[in-house]
Amino acid sequence: MATVKTFVSHLECSLTGKRYAKGTLQTLSEAGKPLLVKYDLEALAKHVNKQVIKDSNKNGFWRYENFLPVTKSENQVTLGEVVTPLITLNHSCEALGASSGNVIVKDEGRLPTGSFKARGLCLAVSMAKELGVKHLAIPTNGNAGAAMAAYASHAGIKTTVFCPDDTPTVNIAEIKQQGGDVYLIDGLINDCGKIVAEGKDSVGWFDVSTLKEPYRIEGKKTMGMELAEQMNWQLPDVIFYPTGGGTGMIGMWKAFNELKTIGWLTGKLPRMVVVQAQTCAPIVRAWENKETSAVPWENARTVAAGIRVPAAIGDFLILQAVRESDGFAVAVSDDDIIQMRDNIAAGDGLLLCPEGAATAVAYKWALEQGWINKADTAVLYNCATGLKYPMTTSFKRLDQGMIDYGRF
Ligand SMILES: *Cc1c(COP(=O)(O)O)cnc(C)c1O
Repeated sequence: MATVKTFVSHLECSLTGKRYAKGTLQTLSEAGKPLLVKYDLEALAKHVNKQVIKDSNKNGFWRYENFLPVTKSENQVTLGEVVTPLITLNHSCEALGASSGNVIVKDEGRLPTGSFKARGLCLAVSMAKELGVKHLAIPTNGNAGAAMAAYASHAGIKTTVFCPDDTPTVNIAEIKQQGGDVYLIDGLINDCGKIVAEGKDSVGWFDVSTLKEPYRIEGKKTMGMELAEQMNWQLPDVIFYPTGGGTGMIGMWKAFNELKTIGWLTGKLPRMVVVQAQTCAPIVRAWENKETSAVPWENARTVAAGIRVPAAIGDFLILQAVRESDGFAVAVSDDDIIQMRDNIAAGDGLLLCPEGAATAVAYKWALEQGWINKADTAVLYNCATGLKYPMTTSFKRLDQGMIDYGRF
């Protein structure tokens, strides 16, 4: 029963600042807004230094356990997380208009269940285990449900999952195979969310919807901490993030600010860029209209299923991160996304997911429009393995008796 040295002081409403107790099951605040986990950063900084982190023998993001809320190591559920690699685009950078070496992909597709949803759901499941929860439920476009099913099954916790009926088959199958009780719903993710919320009292499951419990953000926070450590505590000038519910955006911005508070990061933090699809861009529209929250998007659709989120409960936090970081928000077309995915896969041997490819489209646009310049170092987040998505089905055939070797 190893105790982890943790520094959580309390939880706090992200809108009103009202304080809530740590160590008990929490959902949204009384104001109906996400709760953020707050730490005694002064005490943390006295206990941990960069060398302690560097010397950690834990898997992947569990090396940041002192910045996380799990208090006992047996509750740190693990499926063998890795530190995801940074891959510089060599051949494709010319087509992007970029200077060589300045466009770097953080490939989150290497995590368990093939997406960065592993970070958030691993933490949510670990805290559920710590707090004695027996049954979890989640609405999902695919990747979150798969990550939750995998981690919850590993931890011996029951999982019920609802997804839109046009979710790619591979995601639905993955959820089921990893022990999730999965249902297809004739609606979008928000409709699935309603079912989870309404069933809470009668079924007794715990709602793990994006930002409706406090710990998925803490998991996504590790994405920012890991980037900082990998880049030797010198962050890039700009980060392009495919934004759906915004957990990653909010989590990374939280990480950078915590690290700045304890003096591990100095100087200007990266500009945070929201990337959405033109056919589902509520945050981009709100940013363009200089609003502090977003109006739900009607008729949302896009090939980038992970960012098909018409309404995000943390909209004001996403917009806050963009504003505070002097960032911006860009919407890109599905056609450009697929073209970009194909070009980068062929040019650099890196098969991005459509959401990841969207960030490269946004980078190219931002450079052309003068939002960023060539000298800026940019990190693009590829959030899932490209293997989970439909790929080309047009292949060449040869008749084995009649091969003309001149054609190769
Ligand atoms: C969930 C998801 C996103 C969006 O992430 P948020 O942090 O919720 O905004 C982007 N891409 C993929 C592949 C996803 O699964």
